Amino acid sequence: MTPRVVGFVGLGHMGRPMAERIVAAGFPLVGFDAAGTAERLPEGADGGASVEEVATRADTVLLSLPDGPVVLDVVESIAAAKARRATTVVDLSTTGPAAAVEAATRLAAVGVTYVDGPVSGGVAGARRGTLALMYAGPAGVLEDHRGLLDAFASHVVAVGTVAGQGQTMKLLNNFLSATALVATSEALTFGLAHGLSLPVMLDVLNASTGRNSATVDKFPNRILTGTYDAGFSTALMAKDLRLYVDSLGRASTPDAVGHAVSAVWQQADAARPGSDFTEIWPFVSGT
Ligand code: NAD
Repeated sequence: MTPRVVGFVGLGHMGRPMAERIVAAGFPLVGFDAAGTAERLPEGADGGASVEEVATRADTVLLSLPDGPVVLDVVESIAAAKARRATTVVDLSTTGPAAAVEAATRLAAVGVTYVDGPVSGGVAGARRGTLALMYAGPAGVLEDHRGLLDAFASHVVAVGTVAGQGQTMKLLNNFLSATALVATSEALTFGLAHGLSLPVMLDVLNASTGRNSATVDKFPNRILTGTYDAGFSTALMAKDLRLYVDSLGRASTPDAVGHAVSAVWQQADAARPGSDFTEIWPFVSGT
């Protein structure tokens, strides 16, 4: 059934603009954030006092939380909620396949359907409603939630029917995005050392085979501007790469590049706590 009332837990960089678009699309929304709901709640939404309250007031609860352990905590609260109304949980967070399977199992035991739908496109995409959403779960649940998901994601793709498959898709995407950014940073540092200029190198790359999401977007829009404002932290990217490498180990698939790229991001996170992930450029280049 299409949800009448939507719950939203985690109103951070991504959650807040997604919730804003859901309210603008006409859905009644009740939100909660552990760091303070009132200051993060979009206009027109109701605040809940706890995760349990959200679960007792909403038909479907969306999650946009930092990582798997936090999602599992919140899932536990939803499972324990007395007089629960929620029948579906859509997890938009990046948690890795193992956490998604655990969350789905926990909620299935109390009759709640968990589906994973991690997103890509950044804060800018969340504001514009142009996110890609990697859905894994029953087709009927997707059908019921199309209108809701379309409010913030213009590219909703069913990648599988089993919880965790959306997470797998998301991790492999972020591995490629992280690789592009760190490899571009290394390559441009090499060019600078030989007297080439950043704008000239980017111009050539964007008309050549080295073009990627860092040369097209991050460098021109977030790094050359000196703003470093993608809204995605180095800590979260380092987490995604740990999850990716961990998942590679479980799958026994090739991992040489994964380990090398993850190592650089773990070092960057340790060296620059609290940084935006575009600050990998000053970390790598030493500028
Ligand atoms: P964020 O840290 O800005 O937001 C997470 C929010 O969850 C915070 O406001 C925090 O207070 C809240 N929270 C933490 N524990 C909670 C709890 N127990 N109950 C309720 N609220 C709680 O992170 P973000 O950048 O918005 O990312 C959210 C998720 O989306 C992450 O899994 C991230 O990997 C993923 N993601 C982020 C981006 C991006 O560009 N920022 C893009 C795609 C995916």
